[in-house]
This record gives sequence, structure tokens and C-alpha cells, in this order.
Amino acid sequence: MADFAALAVPGVQALRPYEPGKPVETLERELGIREAVKLASNENPLGPSPRAVEALRTGLGNLHIYPDGNGFALKQALAERHGVDPEQVTLGNGSNEVLELIARTWLAPGHNAVYSQHAFAVYPLVVQAVSAEGRAAPAHAADSEQPYGHDLEAMAARVDHNTRVVFVANPNNPTGTWLTTEALERFVTGVPAETLVVVDEAYAEYVEQPDYPDTTQWLRRFPNLLVTRTFSKIHGLAGLRLGYSVSSAMVAELLNRVRQPFNVNALAQQAGLAALRDTAHVAASVQVNREGLQQVGAGLRERGLDFIPSVGNFVTFDVRQPPGPVYERLLRQGVIVRPVANYGLPTHLRVTIGTAIENERFLKALDVVLTP
Ligand SMILES: *Cc1c(COP(=O)(O)O)cnc(C)c1O
Repeated sequence: MADFAALAVPGVQALRPYEPGKPVETLERELGIREAVKLASNENPLGPSPRAVEALRTGLGNLHIYPDGNGFALKQALAERHGVDPEQVTLGNGSNEVLELIARTWLAPGHNAVYSQHAFAVYPLVVQAVSAEGRAAPAHAADSEQPYGHDLEAMAARVDHNTRVVFVANPNNPTGTWLTTEALERFVTGVPAETLVVVDEAYAEYVEQPDYPDTTQWLRRFPNLLVTRTFSKIHGLAGLRLGYSVSSAMVAELLNRVRQPFNVNALAQQAGLAALRDTAHVAASVQVNREGLQQVGAGLRERGLDFIPSVGNFVTFDVRQPPGPVYERLLRQGVIVRPVANYGLPTHLRVTIGTAIENERFLKALDVVLTP
């Protein structure tokens, strides 16, 4: 057989695939345990909106029909929500697909994209897949006000005339750190007009800090801005794969050239529309997360474990030892968390905020696992 590895495009040759959180079924199959809890992929512990589930049931009978390739109804609703035109909305098979479309639209060998150290793993992945250069700017120090968070000055310093895209996660996963209106506005103002600034707001709905910016409102002032959002987190629809971006109409039109004609399936469109309208489910999810962040934060503090202050629906904590064995022992307690060594955090683990009961199970499992 030919050496297809050597024949792959240069970026792919050096690519390491994304490692998702372990599914509950896999763990239960592997270790023969029951009632495992997955706190590994920042999913909504309340599940999907009941209204979304109802919309799915209604849509099942029409699965022989192709989806609306232009996503008319959902785009209309999203445009209304953000006060933009539907032409400014791009739907994706998860917001990750939008990130990939961006890379395929603006990045080729010779171009580069800038992001922060410890930033969401999908940025380097999509950049490398098109054989462009990924530039990770050093993050803030562990003892700073936003430990391991994006250092926007360091990021700006890495932008040059070949930088087509900058990825900013606000808040960032896995650190849970965030950027203020003032800091982000200064950064976007300073980036060249030819560089697309992608602000990934996957966890925006969870953030309650008053000076956290909603950058979907900045599009008139910054035509080089693109903001991504997702239905995977607060809306509890990770399994359906639905995300979107808002941008200038010109940027959206270019992404539309690259995407597959039916990239977002019919059920996802219908459920997304229903989930968007279910403000009660969103509010309940925010509240469970607020309480859970306090519960998990207090629990970690009681156990003497440092963690990165997070405004998302997850917390990354320091076990001050190689985290692999801790992760494995937690699995044996039926608790799935997420190793983050691939993010340059060699002694940390990330846990998703669950229900009060799930959080308690995690903390109790930690006691078992960390007691010598
Ligand atoms: C979870 C997550 C997403 C969402 O990805 P989807 O493809 O929409 O499921 C995007 N960005 C960040 C930083 C995330 O953590």
C-alpha cells in the first residue's frame, strides 16, 4: 500500500485528532460500572429544552425531505435576537463547523492565524488542517488576575500582514477566563482591518459579569468581526450539532460559498428555533450553573485544590500531580472529567458543572481518589 501518510497535505501530517470527552456508554462498557456521570464535555445537566424535544417529535415524519438549505426560519429568529440582518447569519453543524469554514475561506499555506495559549483546541486544528501556520501567544501567568487567560497584548504582537484570522474565546475553554468590554474593544480596534477577528462566545449566556461584552452588538463598528455562538451548551442540544455566527453580510456570503448545501439538518433547525424561544429553560440552566459553580468552587477550596476562576459551566482545577491516574481513578468511581494536558495544563483536570447531586458525586469521588 502506498504511504498515504506521507502523501497527506503537510498540515494534516502533523495533525493530532481532537479527543472528545469519554461517553458514559463507553465507560460503562469498559469498566462494567453503572450510573456513571459525565462531567467532561460542558453539556447542559438539565438536558435539552422540552420545547425543543417536542419540535423534534413533530419533525420526525418529514425526514424524507431535505432541510431548508438556507435555514430561513432559524436565521430570521437569530437575526431578530441579535438585531442584525438574516444575511449576516451563518448556520453551522455546530459552531465548530463555522470555525472550519473560516479556516477554509481565508487560510492557506503562507497565512497564519493567531490565538492564545490554552485556547480552545479546535482553533489550531482547523488552521493546521489547511496547512496554515497557527501562532499561539503566551497566556497570562498562573498568578495573574485571569490565570492562564488570553493576553491580548501578546496576541496583538503576533499579528502581522499574513495574519488572516485571530481567534478569541470569551470566555475561554478550558480556562473559564474572560475578557472585559474595555480590553476586548481596545484589541479589536488595534487589529488590522484586513484581519478577521473571530470571537467565540460558546458560553456567553452563562456569564453574569456586568462588563462582559456581547460582541454581536459590535458588528456595525467592526466589519472585520465575526461572533460564533452555539446551541450545544446552554440550549442543551450538543447531540444535534447546531451553531452559528453573525458577521458582516460580505463575510457571511463568503462562508456560504464554502459550506455544504445542507450542512444543518432539518431537525436541528426546528429544535434550535424552539430552544431559542424557551427562555425559561435558559434561565433555569443559568441558575443551576451559578449554584453549581459555587458548590464546586467551595468543594475544591475545602479540599485545598487550586482552580482557575471560571465564568463558564466548567472549572479547571489543579491536582498537583500527574492527572492521568487521578482521571482514571475518578473513572472507576463512575465520574468522567476531562484531561487537559493537551492544552498545556499538565497537572489540571476540567470538570463540567452538573446538577447539585452530580457535583456532590464528583466531590465525593475526589475524596476517595485523592486520599492517600
Ligand atoms: C463547546 C465549545 C464550542 C461549541 O462547539 P459546537 O461545535 O457548537 O458544539 C465552541 N467553542 C468553544 C470554546 C467550546 O468550548
